[in-house]
Amino acid sequence: MTAQIALITGANKGIGFETARLLGREGMTVLVGARSAGLGEEAAAALGGEGVDARFVHLDVTDPATIEAASKRIESEHGHLDVLVNNAGIAPAAGWAAPSATSVEAMREVYETNVFGVVAVTNAMLPLVRRSSAGRIVNVSSGLGSLAVMSDPSGESFPMNSLAYPSSKTAVNALTVAYAKDLAGTPIKVNAADPGYCATDMNGHAGFRTPVQGATEVFLLATLDDDGPTGAFRGGGERPGRPL
Ligand code: NDP
Repeated sequence: MTAQIALITGANKGIGFETARLLGREGMTVLVGARSAGLGEEAAAALGGEGVDARFVHLDVTDPATIEAASKRIESEHGHLDVLVNNAGIAPAAGWAAPSATSVEAMREVYETNVFGVVAVTNAMLPLVRRSSAGRIVNVSSGLGSLAVMSDPSGESFPMNSLAYPSSKTAVNALTVAYAKDLAGTPIKVNAADPGYCATDMNGHAGFRTPVQGATEVFLLATLDDDGPTGAFRGGGERPGRPL
């Protein structure tokens, strides 16, 4: 049986790297998407050293030229794509400002990667995913994108009120539902994964979950059986004082 092909964006480190590792250990050929050639090659080599069939693919989700080149390369080398994990994401460079102190520029910066990047990569890869017998698309979201969680009056889980990043993940949840509806009637499932608060570079390693725990939430949605959900938001793990 030929191996399944999985593309993970932002796979050179953190949750994306661990997702590539989990999918690779499952026997998939993993395409390690990274905007830095050096970091991407290094990550693919590290996975290769563990026996994973991992190949670096140059992919900056804000750069249409790299997205187009990546889709052309995947088409010529593999002909299709079974799993797409839209993992690449950023926090605002200016920090977690309150809504009234958030500039439009800061919003644009975050949305370019976290939202528009997801749409650009998904639309470019979708023709290849349609050729899979059981395509799976996982958008890496966040509990901060959940309006139910963020509007919880107890404010227990997320006392911080910020605009750019949380709303970008709310948009990811919305577009996940929209793509799932668009692809209803096809074998493709589109879901959003909440990795939970994981210790990665994004938060200065303050998270209380490991990147592997976060990646496991992504992995579960990337390897759903045919009777699994589509258009769902899953994961989160245990939060102190409140299971989600
Ligand atoms: P990291 O900062 O460790 O990793 C982010 C990855 O995204 C890096 O590989 C980074 O590449 C890549 N990236 C950023 N911008 C681009 C771009 N334009 N094109 C391609 N790749 C890019 O963070 P995490 O592993 O924590 O984050 C992974 C995902 O999980 C994100 O979507 C994040 O929002 C989400 N998430 C994380 C949580 C956490 O607690 N850590 C909680 C909830 C969601 P480079 O190394 O070049 O910067």
